[in-house]
Order: sequence, then structure tokens, then C-alpha cells
Amino acid sequence: MILDIAREQVLEQGIGLTEAQTLEVLQLPDALVDDALELAHEVRMRHCGPEVEVEGIVSIKTGGCPEDCHFCSQSGRFETPVRAARLDIPSLVEAARETAETGATEFCIVAAVRGPDARLMAQVGEAVEAIHDAVEINVACSLGILTREQAEELRDLGVHRYNHNLEAARSYFPHVVTTHTWEERWATLQLIREHDMEVCCGGIVGMGESVEQRAELAAQLGELEPDEVPLNFLDPRPGTPFAGLEPLDGRDALRAIAAFRLALPRTTLRFAGGRELTLGDLGTREGMLGGINAVIVGNYLTTLGRDPGEDLALLAELSMPVKALSETI
Ligand code: SF4
Repeated sequence: MILDIAREQVLEQGIGLTEAQTLEVLQLPDALVDDALELAHEVRMRHCGPEVEVEGIVSIKTGGCPEDCHFCSQSGRFETPVRAARLDIPSLVEAARETAETGATEFCIVAAVRGPDARLMAQVGEAVEAIHDAVEINVACSLGILTREQAEELRDLGVHRYNHNLEAARSYFPHVVTTHTWEERWATLQLIREHDMEVCCGGIVGMGESVEQRAELAAQLGELEPDEVPLNFLDPRPGTPFAGLEPLDGRDALRAIAAFRLALPRTTLRFAGGRELTLGDLGTREGMLGGINAVIVGNYLTTLGRDPGEDLALLAELSMPVKALSETI
């Protein structure tokens, strides 16, 4: 049985599941989902420890993106309620300060762009320096596809981690995005690694992909070995091509959490967008006891998240300490 194999291979030996094994977990009957989550939790405790990494994100440039990622309400190609906006440096520093006050160790500056232009790089440079001067927190960035020079520049600024998601399995990516390729994303991820920034790379489950493709995504992430994997569940946004998709079934979302943890035993696995929709409050608890070990506090980029106080209270109740800044550097 796959869970017995996983106990020996993943828990005892620390070797992540293969693509075929991950598929078996994704196909477990309902009656075994709780067992899979329990094992995923044991794996997380053994290989990552009880700490939970808390992060905040802020958008330096919202909306008006030229790309056509079909899940994204920030694309300028779709009629969505998101309006283009930019944030100034003092507001970014304030947001970083508020994030640090929750105990968060990572503050991620995000821009809705294909990749940064010179103006955005200059603004980000100014913002990173201002935050480093004023707040004790690691700064991460998510600015799309990078050139080698831009990766160097971000490293020299002291950017700690860079987020760039694969979003979907390589075989499904052309159904999700047509304005750039999976390979372009992969190339940026290699640049981040070469420039000694931590790699944050995840995807979205529930975009109409098959379970086989869900296992394929987990395997491709396993090959990349990111420091952190944000696991999103599609929240179908009005006006996007995926607006009409049904949110993922809660049991399937839990199967995905367990399967991704068993495929990636050592990574920081973060609950990202869509968890409120697919899982509700109860699911947040189940996820935290099913292999997840990082959360975003406060708002996501275009949808409201939960109150940070609620998340922090849940972590306290579960005796999961918030990871300290000194342990993340
Ligand atoms: S996911 Fe990023 S690149 Fe794609 S449309 Fe949204 S903001 Fe643009």
C-alpha cells in the first residue's frame, strides 16, 4: 500500500515520492485521506520541525499585466474588477513594518509584470534599501521573468528569496498561459539559484488539469528542489478565462496537500491563495496538521485573506511556534 511505502521511504529515509507514487496518493479513496494527512504531518515534523514560517506580501504594481495567465485577475487582457495601481516607498516600508509586527520573517514585494523594466528595478532597489534600513525582516521579490543582469542586481541588493511559480505541469502549461513558456519560467528559476537567492516556486491546483498532471507538477517541483513551495488552489476570478471552473473539492485539496508534502519532504510548504474558498476555516487546521508549515498573513494580492490574528491564534493552539528571523538567514 502506498502509505506504507511512503512511511518507509519518505518518513524514515527522507526520499520524496516519485511521480507515479504521488499519483497514487492523489487517487487515494476518501477513507484514507486522513491517514495520508497524518503521515504528511509526521514527515513535516521529522524533516522540517514544528516551526511555521510566516510571511507577508505586498504589491508594488497591481494589474495591467501584458501576460495572459488564465487564472489571473491582474492580466490587462481580461475584463476584471482589478484596477492598475502602484504603491509608493513609504507605504511599502509601513507594510513591511506591520508584517514584521505579526512575527513574520519574510516580506515579499510583488509586481504584476512579464518581467521588470529599468523603472521597476529602480523602484524595487529603493524599496529594498528603505525596508532593510527601517525593519528587521528578510525581503523577497516576485517580479516575473529575469535577465541575468537583473538577477545579479537583486542579489547585490540583498534580496533573500525570489518567487517565480511554475503554476502548472509542463504538459498543461500551454492551456494556462500562451504569452510565455514554461521553459522561460524554468530558466528564470535557474538564474535565481545561480545567484544564491532562495528559490520559492509553486503552482495552482484545480485549473482543469488531470490528477496525472498534478503529480507531474509535484515531480517537476521535486526536480527543482525549491526552498519553498506555495501551494495555491484556484479561486476562479470573475472575468478571467477560468472564471467558470468549479472550485476544487475540499477532499481533493487535502489529497494534494498530503501528496505534495510526501513528494517534497524538506521544503517549506506554504498555504497560499484559495485555501479559504476550497477548505474554509476547518481546512486551514487540517492543512496545518497535514504537512503545511508556512502561511501568508493578511491579504493576498487581489483577494482578501484571513485576519492575521486568527492564523496566529491557530498556530498557538496547535503548539507550532512562529519561526524566528535568526533561523531563516
Ligand atoms: S500571473 Fe503574473 S505574469 Fe501572469 S498575468 Fe498575472 S501578474 Fe501577469
